Amino acid sequence: MTYDVAVIGSGQGGVPLALERAARGERVVLFERGPLGGCCVNVGCTPSKAFLASAHTAGRARRAEGVGVHCSVRVDVPAVMRRVQRIVGEWHAGVEKKLADSSVELVRAEAAFEAPHVVRAGGERYEAKAVVIDSGGRAAVPAIPGLAGTPYLTNENVFSLADLPRRLIVLGSGYIGLELGQGAARLGSSVTIVTPDDRLLAREESDACSVLSRSFERDGITVHLRRRATRVAHDGTRFELTLDDGSALAAEGLLVAAGRRPNVPAGAVERAGIALDDHGFIRCDEHLRTTAEHHYALGDVAGQPQFTHVSWEDFRRVGAALDGDLSRRRDDRVLGYAMYTEPQLGRVGITAEVAAERGLAHRVATLALRDVARGPEWDLEEGFFRLVVDPATDAILGATFVGYEAGELIHVILAHMQAGSTWRTLERSVHIHPTFAEGLPTLARQFR
Ligand SMILES: Cc1cc2nc3c(=O)[nH]c(=O)nc-3n(C[C@H](O)[C@H](O)[C@H](O)COP(=O)(O)OP(=O)(O)OC[C@H]3O[C@@H](n4cnc5c(N)ncnc54)[C@H](O)[C@@H]3O)c2cc1C
Repeated sequence: MTYDVAVIGSGQGGVPLALERAARGERVVLFERGPLGGCCVNVGCTPSKAFLASAHTAGRARRAEGVGVHCSVRVDVPAVMRRVQRIVGEWHAGVEKKLADSSVELVRAEAAFEAPHVVRAGGERYEAKAVVIDSGGRAAVPAIPGLAGTPYLTNENVFSLADLPRRLIVLGSGYIGLELGQGAARLGSSVTIVTPDDRLLAREESDACSVLSRSFERDGITVHLRRRATRVAHDGTRFELTLDDGSALAAEGLLVAAGRRPNVPAGAVERAGIALDDHGFIRCDEHLRTTAEHHYALGDVAGQPQFTHVSWEDFRRVGAALDGDLSRRRDDRVLGYAMYTEPQLGRVGITAEVAAERGLAHRVATLALRDVARGPEWDLEEGFFRLVVDPATDAILGATFVGYEAGELIHVILAHMQAGSTWRTLERSVHIHPTFAEGLPTLARQFR
C-alpha cells in the first residue's frame, strides 16, 4: 500500500499534521522511535515547567518577607519529582489517545530512508507520496575528555530522578541550563554554572543578564564565566570537573545543557537527496520544502528557533504546502519566546544591542518596573520593559521584557507586531490600572 503522507517523529508539528491529514481521509503513517509526543511533552517544556512551578513557589515563599510575610520553606523533592512525572504521564497519555482514536497508522520504530519515497522501520517498508520530517533534536554533548561513560544528566534523564543531587554543576548558560539550574537551586541543590560566555544569556540585552545574575546570586548560585571544562572524572559517587584555569569543581550531579543537535533520519541525505545546512539541520525553503521534491521538514530539525510553538505553527504551513497552497510562509509570523527563570524573560524581534551592532536605524525606550505601580505594590520591582522601534515608520522592531510574568506580557508586543501596528497605536491604548501591562503605553509614550 502507498501512503499519502509519512510523518517521521511524533513531535509538536508531526502529531497534529498526521491527525489532520488522516481526518481528511488520507492514508497516513507516523513513525516514532521514542516516547510519543516528542521532546516537549516528555523531556522538555512540560517537565521543566512543572519542575519550575515547585521551584519558584519555594523561591517566592523565601522572599515573602519583603511584603511582611515570613515563611519557613521545606521542599519535598521526591514529591516534586513525582508530580513532574505524573504531569508528563498525563500529557503523554493524551497524545497516545488522540492517535489511537484516529486512523493514523502508528509505527513504534526508528525510521530510515531506503529511497526518496520509501521509509524502512521495524523491518518493514513503507512507501509514501509525501514525507514530512519532524525528528527534532537532542542535547549536544561536548567532547570533554572523561565525560563519555559517566552518569551525567541531560534533559533526557534529569526529570526521571527521584531526588536531586546535593551539589549540581550545570554546563552551559542558555535558557535550558539557566531554568534548570535556578530550579534545582530553589529546590535545595547547591548549583554551580560553568559557561565559556562572558555573561549569562549571551545573546540577550546585557542589562537583562545583569538582572538575572543578581537573582541567581540571591539564590546562592555560583557562576564561572569564560570557563571551559577540560576534563571530567567520576568516582562512582562524585564528579570532578577540571576547568581551563586549572581549578577543579566537585559535585554529585553534572547537567550538560550545552546546546542542541538535530536528529536527521538515516539515509535522508544519501538516499532521499535531502540537503543539510552548515550546522547539520535540514535545509528548507520558506514553505518548509526540503531539497527533495514532496519532502518537508518542520520544527527543530528544520533549522529555526527551537521552540514548541514554532513546530506547532509549522504544521499549518506544511499542511498548506501539501495542498499546493503556497500563501503561508515561515516568515509570515512574528516569533517570540520566553525563559521561565525568575525574573522571567520575554522576547520578540530584535534587541537594541543587535540593532546597534548591525547599524540599523532605531530608537529605544526603557521603563524600569519600579516605575510601574504594580512593581512596588507587589514587591516585584526587578526588571524592565524595553521597546525598539523604527524611526522612519514607527514600526515596532522588537522588545525585551524582564520581570514577573514577562513571558505573558510580551504577547502584547507580539500582537502589535503581527498586526503591523506602530508604537503610536500602543501609546494611544488604555491599559488597565494597576497591572504591569499598564506600563506599556507609558513606555511607548517616551517616543513622542
Ligand atoms: C529542557 C527543555 C525545555 C524546553 N522548554 C521549552 C519551552 O518552555 N517552550 C518552548 O517553546 N520550547 C521549549 N523547549 C523546546 C521544545 O521542546 C522543542 O522545540 C520542541 O519539542 C520541538 O518539537 P519538534 O516537533 O521539532 O520535535 P520533537 O518534539 O523533538 O519530536 C521529535 C520526535 O521525533 C522522534 N524521532 C527522531 N528521529 C526519528 C526517527 N528516525 N524515526 C522515528 N522517530 C524519530 C523523536 O523520538 C521525537 O519523539 C524545551 C526543550 C528542552 C530540552
